[in-house]
This record gives sequence, C-alpha cells and structure tokens, in this order.
Amino acid sequence: MVPAMVHTGIGYDVHPLVAGRKLVLGGVEIAHPRGLEGHSDADVLMHAICDAVLGALGEEDIGHFFPNTDPRWRGVASRIFLLEAARQVAARGGKIINIDSTIIAQEPKVYPYVPEMKINLAAALGINVRRVAVKATTNEHLGFIGRGEGIAAMAVATIDMPFVDDAPAKTADTVTEMI
Ligand code: MG
Repeated sequence: MVPAMVHTGIGYDVHPLVAGRKLVLGGVEIAHPRGLEGHSDADVLMHAICDAVLGALGEEDIGHFFPNTDPRWRGVASRIFLLEAARQVAARGGKIINIDSTIIAQEPKVYPYVPEMKINLAAALGINVRRVAVKATTNEHLGFIGRGEGIAAMAVATIDMPFVDDAPAKTADTVTEMI
C-alpha cells in the first residue's frame, strides 16, 4: 500500500464591483445592480478555490496558468480554471479531500445561493458536494469591502497525495549547490 500524505493549499482573491457587469459567484449568476470586474467572468470564489488547489500541489497561481493578458480567457466561465486545477490533482494521482471557503461581501446577501454554488464547485472539481464548504460574511462596513467597492474570497484545499515527494525539490537542489 502506498502511503499517502495530506497537502494543504490556501487561496485568496478580490475583484472590484462595478456597474454593467454580471455578478457571478461560485458559478451562480446573482441578480445585483453591479458585478465583479475582471478578464474572465471574475468569479472571485472560484478563483480563490483554484489557487488553494494549485497551492496544495505546490504549483504556480491561477494567473500563471490563465494570464489575464490572454484573449482566450476573456469572459470565460471560471469553471474551466477549476477543471484544470482538478485535472492537475488527478494527473499526480491525488484526490481532493475537502474545500473550505469564505466569501467576504457587504452585499448582496449570498447565503440563499450557497447550495447551488456548492453543487457547481463540486461538479467542476469532480468531488462530492459534501466535501465543499462555502461560507459568507460581511466586512462589518469596514474598508473597501465594507463600502461595497469589491468582493473577496478565501479558500483552503486539502488533497490526499501519493507519497512521491522524495525527489529533491528545486529548493533542496539549490541548497545542495550552495554547500
Ligand atoms: Mg481573480
């Protein structure tokens, strides 16, 4: 039996709220006078989760794989970023154990949309919906989020990885060269 190892990753993202954009959070389009500005659909929750998964793999962040200068990602549904993150997990023989996340928004109230968000996130990541948590909080009217200028999200991902990390990592190579 191959021993496994739990890897953890963290993700954070923020996008400005502007007029004339759709508000998409966790793949759910929410009726609101303003939406999040960004190159893709600016789904801040999916972006934070994507970075958490990539972080658990020790990979570069979402901007590395999907640069906002690339016209291919213009206006796309952020679901494709999660599909790619999940593909990278599977390619390493890993399994996502769970995702925890928090949306930080002064408005709108996102709680009614959370069940649908969880379904979307679980589907994109190829995991059971019970392995996905989405929480929401306001910013108590403090700072740019509290003034409604933007919405932030943070996420943690844990991944069950095969124990194959004995090969010298880049850092260890560098240290060896320094000795
Ligand atoms: Mg983003």
